[in-house]
Amino acid sequence: MSDISQIIKKSRKIVVKIGSNVISDNGTVNKERLHNIVDQVKHLMDMGKQVVIVSSGAGACGVGVLNKWGRRGDINYKQALCAIGQVELMMAYKEYFGDYDIHVGQILLTGEDFGDHNRTLHIRNTLFTLIDEGIVPVINENDSVCVDEINSIGDNDTLSALTANLWSADLLIIMSDIDGVFDKDPKTHKDAKLITKITNIDETMGSIDTEGKSSFGTGGIVCKIEAARTVNEFGSGMILLNGKKKDIIISALEGTEKGTLFACE
Ligand code: GLU
Repeated sequence: MSDISQIIKKSRKIVVKIGSNVISDNGTVNKERLHNIVDQVKHLMDMGKQVVIVSSGAGACGVGVLNKWGRRGDINYKQALCAIGQVELMMAYKEYFGDYDIHVGQILLTGEDFGDHNRTLHIRNTLFTLIDEGIVPVINENDSVCVDEINSIGDNDTLSALTANLWSADLLIIMSDIDGVFDKDPKTHKDAKLITKITNIDETMGSIDTEGKSSFGTGGIVCKIEAARTVNEFGSGMILLNGKKKDIIISALEGTEKGTLFACE
């Protein structure tokens, strides 16, 4: 059994982060893929696991809905797109989980929320209550109120790691548009090798490709590595999987697909 399969099997509380590039293809929401991810989350729940979703894609969905403003750089338009797209995103989650008679609950957070003891307490209580009642929390950054570097988390990789620690998750699964961490940039190097397990981030950093940054997502590989560091410090593992691949979590569970496991040992 692969390390990834093992860690998914033994983890009870799992945060699944879904990147913008997984949810959208060039500004169009890929509903089939999103539906497939919901099916996989249901599969995890059927295995007795509790799942919190951290979902990007509000901006991408906004472009998909309006079919304009996609190239506008002004922050107010970006935020307006997120405000529009967040509704679309939640409607899709509501519909797909609804097929299983499962409700979803939306939580929008800012960086400031994580620095305030009272707020973190309330977020925890809300998460625990939703989960106890069988409802799937879907978290995103509250993009329309985050205008500066002070209260903006900026990327959902960090948000998902902070969420995982706050909820005391056993595992964070980041679904991105890459297969995992490679020793070289796989786009330019045919011989690039996937690193399937990282136990010491600092040691591995030297050999890691840190170029990959995608158009809609704000994360990039550096944010994913930092997210791994954040959860590892709290004693939890993180897996990076290619969320564009159908049934990737199930295949990872069965050991037929790989990704990168950031293990804390
Ligand atoms: N919160 C942003 C959105 O939903 C995405 C942030 C990210 O891609 O990390 O569009």
